[in-house]
Amino acid sequence: MSKYMSKRHANLTAYVPGEQPQDKKYVKLNTNESPFPPSPLAQRLARQAAGTIELYCDPECGALVKIAAEKFGVSSDEILFTNGSDEILDFAFAAFCDENTPAVFPDITYGFYPVFATRNGVPYHEIPLKEDLTVDVRDYLGVKGTVFIANPNAPTGIALPASDIEKIVASDPSRVVVVDEAYVDFGGESVLPLIKKYDNLLVTQTFSKSRSLAGGRLGMGFASAALIADLKKIKYSFNPYNVNSMTAAAGIGALLDEEYFKTNAETIIKTREDAVLALDALGFTSLPTKANFIFAKHAKLSGRSVYSALKDKGVLVRYFDKDRLQDYVRITVGSAEDMRILTEMLADIIGERK
Ligand code: PMP
Repeated sequence: MSKYMSKRHANLTAYVPGEQPQDKKYVKLNTNESPFPPSPLAQRLARQAAGTIELYCDPECGALVKIAAEKFGVSSDEILFTNGSDEILDFAFAAFCDENTPAVFPDITYGFYPVFATRNGVPYHEIPLKEDLTVDVRDYLGVKGTVFIANPNAPTGIALPASDIEKIVASDPSRVVVVDEAYVDFGGESVLPLIKKYDNLLVTQTFSKSRSLAGGRLGMGFASAALIADLKKIKYSFNPYNVNSMTAAAGIGALLDEEYFKTNAETIIKTREDAVLALDALGFTSLPTKANFIFAKHAKLSGRSVYSALKDKGVLVRYFDKDRLQDYVRITVGSAEDMRILTEMLADIIGERK
């Protein structure tokens, strides 16, 4: 760190994203990307948009907002698009938390939440997951602060029913509840329709997983017009042009190509179920997942050793060196062929240790 670094940020512990190695080609099952390319329509529209990037992009993402409003049954002022859903989450920490309104989230959840809180200079309070790594809804009914719940949760993949989320939102209209639905399209239940009923609910989703646009960086949020206006205040104080023209165009293509999206999500779900069975047969236990990843532990091998041995064999998964998670690896559901290679390599590793 240089001597010029601000005191405010000197002690920041930055988020560590999953590895994106460029050295060789891995079977990449570590950052929950889609194994499928973007929809052909998304690609075509992005290429077209590339022809006009001498101009600034539309800061309101008007065309994209119009299509999304129709698709999701909300009005234009109830939507905001951002540079990945990380950005809208960050905006939510900035907009809805302060010294007297801490952020509240589970102790095991998306690792970026504490970083967003710290960088925005707001306190946070972590609520332990239950022994079985599920969220106890009752823990969130009485607490003061802005609640952040990833549903399905990461890295467990466990989902709460929409009725449970509604209990949290309804229990205290004086606080905002942010529901991070990054993985909802793989079998979870969205609370998006509830934004019409509760003006303290923000639902965030991403194009990075089920819509194959991780590198395009596109996220979206749905909430009452008043909450969206608050988030826009942050956006316009930071970067009005946060969604570039090519990404906005790709987003339009991804939303219009519903068939492609649906087929791919269904394929991932089917591949996930097959992979869980294959992992069972190898002595792994998996948490019940509704995401495009499987959080699994082996009866005899530590999470770190599975991670390292797989990496040596050219398969990347994610390991979290954190209390209660050390036994596990998080495995993204890739293509059926990716999962075949994964299980073959795991069988080799287990065989070698016998
Ligand atoms: N929420 C959760 C729970 C995630 O795992 C991720 C992906 N790392 C995100 C949000 C952010 O994804 P993106 O910024 O690519 O939309």
